[in-house]
Amino acid sequence: MDKQALQQLMRTLAFAARKHRDQRRKDIEASPYINHPITLADILVNEGGVTDRETLIAALLHDTIEDTDTTAEEIASEFGLVIAGLVMEVSDDSSLSKLERKELQIRHAPDLSHKARLVKLADKIANLRDIDQSPPADWSLQRKQAYFDWAKAVIDGLRGTHEGLEAIFDAAYRKRPEG
Ligand code: NDP
Ligand code: ZN
Repeated sequence: MDKQALQQLMRTLAFAARKHRDQRRKDIEASPYINHPITLADILVNEGGVTDRETLIAALLHDTIEDTDTTAEEIASEFGLVIAGLVMEVSDDSSLSKLERKELQIRHAPDLSHKARLVKLADKIANLRDIDQSPPADWSLQRKQAYFDWAKAVIDGLRGTHEGLEAIFDAAYRKRPEG
């Protein structure tokens, strides 16, 4: 990796860590939120063999607009319009209800760009693994199952993107909790 790419990645990590610094995941231990975007980048590089710089940067930033005060304009001025566009592609519209957001993710999956699809795949892999290994404290069996099925419906809409990551998603889905 050239020096400029390394600098950009480290700058992205520092930016994401700062933006998520007061957030925690929903697991019992309330893990630091930044673990999650780092996990996406780890899945992409070390399990999917993805080395595309824009995809990895978008993965590290993927929840900043949706879950923090970060704006698309801020991402654009720090990282450029292409990265801002990718992060917007994988961000839900927070003015909509949770139910509408869930339906739109399924409906829009086939329209996502290739790089956004890779981020989506890594996000769903990470979240299914989290629900299997360190689930939100108060989730019922039915809620976990519903999440697994919704995630599969999203991923089924973007198949043909990356064989390896799709197989990894399918392996994670096979851990769907049973009663
Ligand atoms: P949420 O969308 O509220 O929570 C899931 C999201 O939380 C994940 O996509 C992930 O998002 C993030 N997250 C943080 N920590 C964890 C973790 N440890 N494991 C997994 N994910 C984590 O949940 P639902 O999709 O279940 O609910 C959507 C709506 O439906 C809610 O408003 C809820 O009240 C309602 N509801 C649904 C039920 C059901 O059976 N599905 C039952 C009761 C209510 P990210 O990648 O952005 O971090
Ligand atoms: Zn996420």
